[in-house]
Amino acid sequence: MPERPTRIAIIGAGPAGATTAALLAKRGASVVILDDGKRPDLVVGESLIPLMVAAFRELGIEEQVKSFGMHKPGVTFTIDDETEFNLSFQAVEGVLPTYSYNVPRREFDQLLLDTALQSGATMITTRVNLDGPHAHGAEVRLAPETLAQIPNWHGAAPDLIIDASGRRRLTAKLLQLKAESGPRTDVAHFAHYTGCRLPAPAGQVIISRLKHGWSWRIPLTDGRLSIGIVMNKDAAKEFGATPEEQLEGVIESETRIRSIGQNRQRLTPVATYANYQLISERASGPGWAAVGDAFGFVDPMLSPGLCMALESARVLAASIPPHGGLDARTPARLRRYGRWFERSLRHWQSLVDYFYDGRIFAIYTAGKAMSAKRPGRPAEVIDGHITRQLAGMAAGAYTSRFYSRLLLATLAVVSLREGKATGFAIR
Ligand SMILES: Cc1cc2nc3c(=O)[nH]c(=O)nc-3n(C[C@H](O)[C@H](O)[C@H](O)COP(=O)(O)OP(=O)(O)OC[C@H]3O[C@@H](n4cnc5c(N)ncnc54)[C@H](O)[C@@H]3O)c2cc1C
Repeated sequence: MPERPTRIAIIGAGPAGATTAALLAKRGASVVILDDGKRPDLVVGESLIPLMVAAFRELGIEEQVKSFGMHKPGVTFTIDDETEFNLSFQAVEGVLPTYSYNVPRREFDQLLLDTALQSGATMITTRVNLDGPHAHGAEVRLAPETLAQIPNWHGAAPDLIIDASGRRRLTAKLLQLKAESGPRTDVAHFAHYTGCRLPAPAGQVIISRLKHGWSWRIPLTDGRLSIGIVMNKDAAKEFGATPEEQLEGVIESETRIRSIGQNRQRLTPVATYANYQLISERASGPGWAAVGDAFGFVDPMLSPGLCMALESARVLAASIPPHGGLDARTPARLRRYGRWFERSLRHWQSLVDYFYDGRIFAIYTAGKAMSAKRPGRPAEVIDGHITRQLAGMAAGAYTSRFYSRLLLATLAVVSLREGKATGFAIR
């Protein structure tokens, strides 16, 4: 007798849920995605990193991403009027694709969902209610009214519930799991604009250190520019009471953004996010596992969010048997997945910290000073090596690599002797 397909209920049709669904359905599992259909038109998360291109190739969707995405060659960090730090993804040649994309989220999320449906998953639009915590068997269960909406399972419960509910963190809240908050308590506002001077080279993302916090400029297709600001909540209030006043106020007060946006027209409402740095106590339990933001999110700096959503989907899907239900080894595999996920988020957090406290810019300026003092081939080789390691970490290839992390830590100690990091810190 062939084994029955494993029944998987995925809560949330965002990138993490849709990708997990696609990968499991492709392998023959019976996958149902349950989503409340409440995604707003404008969703944050438009700048992607090269590791994601590798994932697109695996899913067979790079051509479609290319059709609505903007080719992204790298990121430029502007620290002040004199200091600019250019991170080109060309430096990861031979390790990862040397580019990524900037994408409008509506099209991007729809593509991932379509891929899941074409792979055999089904989708039901409903607001999921969960039951729990239960002391025996599955720790969380679909509420009877939710289960009743899945016709092809004829009342049978899922073998596994995958929580991909994003920052709503459905399971974590139900189980009252502790969560560790990150060091920053910022608010982020953003909107799409037209009529702005666009970054060069085309598609380059610009991150600017501001008097308070930082801003992003993400070029999208059709001349659109996504402008976002990230700053301490109290500092934001100095610019006005509403998100619109705060976003426009910061743009007007910062020469570097004002100068490129003199003729700007806002095309969308302003979207706001706050309190997003969070890692849950655990990523799985009996009968459930969390993927993407439902487990944790680090920070918008360096754009690790969607990459971790897709990577966690990949690792989680590989931990689940697609036929015969969960076997005796699945709980251990899910715990290993959780440890990997937590470790990866911590490595991203540690890299992001280098940008916030200014160490990365201290390393960069110390390197430039060294090359200027002793120009020549050895300086070029050292500079090239460091740039490659750094770009590799920001691209997602080396973020967890021991050697790259050690190199960065060592360089930070050396450059800190010059005492410059605090002058570059993002407040
Ligand atoms: C300020 C800011 C800037 C960012 N910038 C970037 C960036 O430039 N690049 C990047 O890669 N990432 C960025 N991110 C992160 C990125 O937006 C997220 O990591 C990503 O959206 C996570 O995807 P997800 O699938 O886990 O969750 P989501 O995209 O949030 O999807 C969750 C889904 O679950 C559904 N849902 C929730 N509850 C229920 C329920 N009870 N029943 C049914 N359905 C439900 C929701 O409607 C939604 O469709 C940024 C984040 C922030 C806060």
